[in-house]
Amino acid sequence: MGEQTKIEWCDHTFNGVRGCAKKRIPIVEGNPEAFYPSGCDHCYAESMSKRFPKNLGIWGVNGVRVLAKQHIWDEPHHWNRRAKERGVRGRVFAYSLGDMGEMPVKELHADAKLYGYEPTNEQVENAERNQHVCDEARRKLFALVEATPFLDWLLLTKRIEEIVGQVPKHWLSDPPSNWWQGTSVSTQPDVDFRLAKLIEVPAAVRFISAEPLLEKIDIRRFLDNEYAPRDFGGAMAEAIGWRVDWVICGGESSLSAREFDIPAMESLVDQCAEYGVALFNKQLGFRPIEEIDSTRVRLKLVDKKGGDMDEWPERLSHLRIRQFPEVRL
Ligand code: SF4
Repeated sequence: MGEQTKIEWCDHTFNGVRGCAKKRIPIVEGNPEAFYPSGCDHCYAESMSKRFPKNLGIWGVNGVRVLAKQHIWDEPHHWNRRAKERGVRGRVFAYSLGDMGEMPVKELHADAKLYGYEPTNEQVENAERNQHVCDEARRKLFALVEATPFLDWLLLTKRIEEIVGQVPKHWLSDPPSNWWQGTSVSTQPDVDFRLAKLIEVPAAVRFISAEPLLEKIDIRRFLDNEYAPRDFGGAMAEAIGWRVDWVICGGESSLSAREFDIPAMESLVDQCAEYGVALFNKQLGFRPIEEIDSTRVRLKLVDKKGGDMDEWPERLSHLRIRQFPEVRL
């Protein structure tokens, strides 16, 4: 939905495509018996879509993807005009009701391989329809980013490995200065796979959404100036920087939320401080857990999302950090 947003780190949310399939990493490669915990497990967009499948799609590799109506695609042009008039750039988050990187045909075949079945003709045709919707949404999204230079576009995906192959070719050598590319990480396996891919994307800002953060993660090598390749698909590291520029951190906020380990947030605070990387601690979630005298204790907060920093006890004042990155291009 194109709308003013309640998300603290952006001004608008934008959803060009609705519907998605969950991303999960098997604990043993190729074995569907068990998966690492995933940020997709409690996808709130999936829950919403069950009430409004016509507008919000149907989840799963055999589900339905819906392209946003034209008036939704028109809204960012108004935001852009307003931002220009006010002389204040707007930040747009895309997407919250789907994933900009989804590749339905490839994902159907990967699912079939993992679970050992042969996709039916009907399933293949459905995946091809969904692929068409996702491709069309990407084409329109990238054109929109170029047409709205007073908006910074925060494009977030769990399929970061698809992005270099999907953006317009000229973005690789001459990236738009309003293209911020992010990927989500909840666990260390997410970090190890997705951040190695994120660092190859020549966006003006590269960011991590560690929300929900499900365990302590080590991201230090991706915060280090020396880590990234020198040439990002044609754009030079001197121009766009060497590393991840921004980290957003938070816990789950639904009633079924998993525990949020406050020491895991503290660890990210320390890692970002060590490398001088901007950090935005959004919320402690519905079940924040502290460690006091080696005992795990649930922190009770009035705000169910744990997003009111004034409510966080004084002993956690070092977590009250809401920084934004510098844009270099
Ligand atoms: S990628 Fe995002 S929208 Fe898709 S299932 Fe996961 S959490 Fe939901």
